[in-house]
Amino acid sequence: MLKPSVTHLHPYVPETPLPELEKQIGVSPIVRLSANENPFGTSPAVKKAIQGFDFNTTRQYPDGDANQLCQAVAKFAGVPAEQLLFGCGLDEVIELVARTFLSPGDEMVEPWPTFGEYKIHAQIEDATIIDVPVQADGQFDVDGLINAITPKTKLLWLCNPNNPTGTFLPLAQMRALLKRVPKHVLVMIDEAYVDFVTDEAQPSALALIPEFDNIVVMRTFSKIYGLAAMRVGYAVIPKALVAAMQAVRLPYNLNSVSQAAALAALADQDFVTTIRQRVAKARTQWEAFLAANGYQYDHSQANFIFFKAPRAAELKDYLLHHGFLVRDGLGPDQLRVTFGTDAQNQQIQKLMTAFYA
Ligand SMILES: *Cc1c(COP(=O)(O)O)cnc(C)c1O
Repeated sequence: MLKPSVTHLHPYVPETPLPELEKQIGVSPIVRLSANENPFGTSPAVKKAIQGFDFNTTRQYPDGDANQLCQAVAKFAGVPAEQLLFGCGLDEVIELVARTFLSPGDEMVEPWPTFGEYKIHAQIEDATIIDVPVQADGQFDVDGLINAITPKTKLLWLCNPNNPTGTFLPLAQMRALLKRVPKHVLVMIDEAYVDFVTDEAQPSALALIPEFDNIVVMRTFSKIYGLAAMRVGYAVIPKALVAAMQAVRLPYNLNSVSQAAALAALADQDFVTTIRQRVAKARTQWEAFLAANGYQYDHSQANFIFFKAPRAAELKDYLLHHGFLVRDGLGPDQLRVTFGTDAQNQQIQKLMTAFYA
């Protein structure tokens, strides 16, 4: 009964709820540093918006076009509201892209490792996936990506900064790359972590939209805004393609509470600035720790770091039994750790040192 493309699918493994994990492991509390969540919470303005939500409107369908949020994001991002598309998390937008553009036999190019959802949805559509390994420093192999493009290529995914390497391709190099991409290829630029970039003052590919009509720029409220539970992401779609994508999208994909929460979060840019500064400080401290202790790591511009750790699976287990969940399985003997609070960072680093002592 199943369509052939889904019979051998490896599903995305979601995080085990913390209370359940704590029971399983017999350790409490466990700090989750495996999902790139914001350890500093979310803006107090969001709490107010949710508490002020009019309960009487729960019997009504939400605004299917998320008009208020859409206008606010358009103003914030400096793009026409008509080109915005919202999803139940950026995850849904990723699914929608695969559903709208990929037919069986089409090709999709991506660096590897990168965010696993691009691959899963391409597989469901029975597309062919071309993985182009990143370079030794975690950066994209730009020539390799360009050379992987064929007449059958529909999509090129570029997660920038990339998950899990954390590396960032500067805007000038992004522009140079885009100039080499044939016009029949749609380039998906996933900026889930762009708000954490500090190496460059204006890092977003939103600035390139006037120059290229084959790029999509994607953002989420889950990471720097600390709103992962509310599931709000969006993309800026080229004018010629947006109507088709809106037709494929489910009509009420963004619930009313989430719309109100995201609107409040967007309005509090002071919160975003504070988080960016705190994460940048943690990043500097983590890179200094890894360098001082001889770990090989990729230079990060995100809220996590990707590094080589001998006996990574054992280290992960040791950390878990001492109250820290980190991410493995993304590369041989490599771990990805989300930055926590100062106290959490110091504690996990102490545990790492103790493990190898
Ligand atoms: C977390 C993440 C997403 C998904 O974000 P949601 O809006 O929570 O669905 C998308 N892309 C990348 C690269 C991510 O790391």
